[in-house]
Amino acid sequence: MGNINKDYIEEYIHSVLPENNGYLKDLEVYAKENNIPIIEKETAQLLKVLLKIYEPKNILEIGTAIGYSALVMASSTDANCNITTIEKQFNMVKLAEKNIDKTEYKNRIKILNGDAVEILSNLDEKFDLIFLDAAKGQYLQFFNSCKDLLKTKGLIISDNVLFRGMVASDKLVIRRKKTIVKRLREYLNHISNLEGYESCIIPIGDGIALTYKEE
Ligand code: SAH
Ligand code: MG
Repeated sequence: MGNINKDYIEEYIHSVLPENNGYLKDLEVYAKENNIPIIEKETAQLLKVLLKIYEPKNILEIGTAIGYSALVMASSTDANCNITTIEKQFNMVKLAEKNIDKTEYKNRIKILNGDAVEILSNLDEKFDLIFLDAAKGQYLQFFNSCKDLLKTKGLIISDNVLFRGMVASDKLVIRRKKTIVKRLREYLNHISNLEGYESCIIPIGDGIALTYKEE
């Protein structure tokens, strides 16, 4: 289990959430078989509710993988909401394109291939909502590169911020993840104490942080 909540809580929440079918289910199976990290069920559900409340017109995602979360977000926003998603691995971009092209959302999702930090420095569009779900050791760098692209009253949602509980307890940290854990802690400290922003950390899935831009 994820070491974030007690197993019985996580199992219970999973048991009440609805099962997907169709291409989302297929992508879940593919991700599991190929060890590709996609957002967890309860994270997807939180995203969907937030998107319905927020009604963003322009979403930026950092970390496309096979396009699963981009499709979840597309399915919870209206037809005039565009999603730009960045992925550095070319093979993932190809896979995501193939998966997205099969759906009714293909005209609303644009994939940019390259390193996010580099791509972000060349974007001049502004976004209502940013979903951060790429290399965990680079979150602070991604945040600093994208915060000026976020509109006032916009939201940054960061996934995996508690990283299997390791961020909250040294007892859980495995040696080769030490640097990532240290950086995630720095990230959470940064966004939690940043003037002009209001953040919270939600211990579901692999840990999610919400950061609201006030001005
Ligand atoms: N959001 C996806 C999962 C993303 S997994 C979903 O839930 O369906 C993280 C992805 O981020 C990986 O595919 C990885 O290649 C990509 N990534 C990691 N570092 C990156 C960077 N610096 N720039 C762009 N993509 C990056
Ligand atoms: Mg994730």
